[in-house]
Amino acid sequence: MSAEVKMTELKARLLEISDLNGAASVLSWDQSTYMPPGGGPARSRQSALLGRLAHERITAPEIGRLLDELESYRESLPYDHDDAALLRVTRRTYDQRIRIPAPFMGELYEHIGNLFDTWTRARPANDFGMVRDGLAKTLDYSRRFAEYFPHQHIADPLIDLSDYGMTAESVRAVFDELRAELVPLVQAITSQPPADNSFLRRYFPQDAQLAFGVEAIKDFGYDFNRGRQDLTHHPFMTRFSAGDIRITTRVDEHFLTDALFSTLHEAGHALYEQGIDVGYDGLPLGGGTSAGVHESQSRTWENIVGRSRAFWMHYYPGLQAAFPEQLGDVSLDAFYRAINKVERSLIRVDADEVTYNLHVMIRFGLELDLLEGKLPIDDLPEAWRARYTSDLGITPPDDKDGVLQDVHWYGGLIGGAFQGYTIGNLMSAQFYEAALRAHPEIEAEIGQGKFDTLRTWATENIYRWGSKFTANELMERVTGGPLQVAPLIRYLRGKYGELYSV
Ligand code: ZN
Repeated sequence: MSAEVKMTELKARLLEISDLNGAASVLSWDQSTYMPPGGGPARSRQSALLGRLAHERITAPEIGRLLDELESYRESLPYDHDDAALLRVTRRTYDQRIRIPAPFMGELYEHIGNLFDTWTRARPANDFGMVRDGLAKTLDYSRRFAEYFPHQHIADPLIDLSDYGMTAESVRAVFDELRAELVPLVQAITSQPPADNSFLRRYFPQDAQLAFGVEAIKDFGYDFNRGRQDLTHHPFMTRFSAGDIRITTRVDEHFLTDALFSTLHEAGHALYEQGIDVGYDGLPLGGGTSAGVHESQSRTWENIVGRSRAFWMHYYPGLQAAFPEQLGDVSLDAFYRAINKVERSLIRVDADEVTYNLHVMIRFGLELDLLEGKLPIDDLPEAWRARYTSDLGITPPDDKDGVLQDVHWYGGLIGGAFQGYTIGNLMSAQFYEAALRAHPEIEAEIGQGKFDTLRTWATENIYRWGSKFTANELMERVTGGPLQVAPLIRYLRGKYGELYSV
């Protein structure tokens, strides 16, 4: 059999796996949007079946045989050839999955399903005790999972799952540098009188909120012929195929910015997915390359674009026209200050651009301590309070808005799920500087509600490649160097220096 025939067979098998995953994504999207509560038990079973079938197919001996037989073909190709990249990425996934025994994964999924269900009741009840034993079990599973892989640090295999190529050591080094810059900046800003954002809590009807967001993301270039927006509790983006990439949001009629910025955020994720070369659809290359790069794009469109003065110079008159009674007496300047209010707060997902990364670093540090065995589960709630007090200068009054606030540890493994948010913020600033170097007119265009230059640049340099290049390779190719802290600090100092005169 020629390499060409073998590649055709491999792609056919990979397409089946992609279709199983796509079907599972439809079920999951439905579960998070329209499914009645009674559908839960059967839906868990259906999703588990699709997950098991996909796992069996990616670890099938035929995949291993084809990858082995195509090894010399891969070596004959240039590194950036599509087939070489496909073989590389498929090999990585196969080698990763084949190390994990199927019964372990089955046990893990069942445990996580149960703990998630408990957490949905424990958080409103403010009762860490309800999840204490389950979380201890998750920590044990997380360590066992990592032990299936060679590693320097126990967290490395977990970090690899979402941010391939990064390690506990490399992330810690970047985070330490960032924290040293952020803590004094937060101190300088929060020592000034806080911005007034009380008018954002007036009554803003749902339909008008949604309509405004849809217009903005159409202008970004989100293609509604290949996507749609629905309501959910925890906004997300999901890909079924290149032709169907959906976003979700939630609306608080007494807080204007929740739906608005979650819409811009999820649209950023979707622009990335809609920009991937359609030739990669149905293959492991047809998706974003890492959690960090994905978040870099959602944060670019939400924050760098969507919270900029230039953006609102164009859009604020339209927002005022949509809500004349609510915003007629609010100046552009007051609105801009309100949507960029910096404050020491308890909840990560509501945090501003300046303090947000401190929330992430607290979680990352606690994860490493848990995995290293330095921090017993029983001491976790207190360790959380201590870190918030020392790093953010605010002490959570309870566990509900403390250690219980994020789903990640209760709906997945401990380790690897948080660092991508801050890596994404760092990358967004570094990518955006590269975009401005190539096209200084981008900022003026944002002020006219035009985004073609930015989106086209991002598509050509980042989106179209899907998973062909790793995050580290993309950073080098696009920005000419490795991930750095300085661009984000320059961005924050520039924007908030002007806002707060620091
Ligand atoms: Zn995101």
